[in-house]
Amino acid sequence: MEKIKLPVTGSGYYEIRLESIGGLGANLCGKMLGELGVKYLDLNSASFSSYGSEKTGTPVKGFIRYCDKEKEIRVHSPVTEPNLLVIFHQALLKDGGVWAGCNENTEAIIAIEEGQETDALNVPDPIKACHVVKAQKIAMETHSRINVVMLGAMARVMGFAALEDVNQICADALGKKYPDALKGNLEGIKRGYEEVKRIEGKDSQAVSLKQAPKWGYETAPIGGINPQFGNTVATDLSPSRQGYIPLFIKERCINCGMCDSTCPDMVFQFAPGLYKGKEMMVNQGLDYYHCKGCLRCVEVCPVNALVRGVESEHPGKGYFLPNKDLLHMPDYIKAGPDGYVTSESYLTEKRMEGGEV
Ligand code: SF4
Ligand code: SF4
Repeated sequence: MEKIKLPVTGSGYYEIRLESIGGLGANLCGKMLGELGVKYLDLNSASFSSYGSEKTGTPVKGFIRYCDKEKEIRVHSPVTEPNLLVIFHQALLKDGGVWAGCNENTEAIIAIEEGQETDALNVPDPIKACHVVKAQKIAMETHSRINVVMLGAMARVMGFAALEDVNQICADALGKKYPDALKGNLEGIKRGYEEVKRIEGKDSQAVSLKQAPKWGYETAPIGGINPQFGNTVATDLSPSRQGYIPLFIKERCINCGMCDSTCPDMVFQFAPGLYKGKEMMVNQGLDYYHCKGCLRCVEVCPVNALVRGVESEHPGKGYFLPNKDLLHMPDYIKAGPDGYVTSESYLTEKRMEGGEV
């Protein structure tokens, strides 16, 4: 195998950062890139992903490092100054932080939509070059996924990975598990490779490249409280509300408790009450503040009292607004997407009523 000349910079590594959204396949893409380095490029490589809440629609980052075989990878921290920055969805551009650490050695690839004006992309200076690819359109046309289209585009921009090697790593990853999907995915890679194009013109006003974290050693509140909750839907950390939430239809609920014993984040609020004239623990609804949208509760509910809802249809100041289609149902407003029954509010209400808590 001919030795690859890696375009490394100061760190001695070629470093890639994937900026993505849960559900677009960046995690798998990072794994494939890591294996590509070792199996087919005769490099040392390492890759890992970072995702806070496991939630479809929330930010995911992937970090990949390559270096020559003579050098070892002893760094296992996130990539802060990427040689290649890959943005899987244009919604992420709303967050200037995706560009953090870019410099004159950084090439960027942005997934754009069909018909999107590239002038409005707000690519910051300094940056070596910016490329765009209509990843979603290609993925739909080839029956593949955005991650493989981006993989093809990356191979082209990196310049040291041959298309055949990328095809091979895709076949290794998907061929056995999803043989029927392989043809479309290889087509997606090919079109990503062929259709990624460099854009000219930059808007240096757009974003600041280095963003200091809001809270740090010197500025964090005393007492170890984290005021920026990462694992909630009420805190809008997501660049794009594409995820799902469970909707609770209280009148269908038989209070079996399956959701409560399944939910990993103890979102359900049960309290003593009456159900069909019998005293029992009654489901009061969800505390969305802690819900990460995994929908395990929807799967487990035996009577469809929990159904899948589109999160973006229930926005509103950190809480959820009622779904108008369901407003005719009794009790829906009290315990539903707008219910926002927190343990604190529940207990406060009980105390005000003078009841047992
Ligand atoms: S699993 Fe369904 S029926 Fe059972 S308590 Fe939960 S919401 Fe109610
Ligand atoms: S989707 Fe359901 S199971 Fe998952 S965290 Fe939310 S309430 Fe719990």
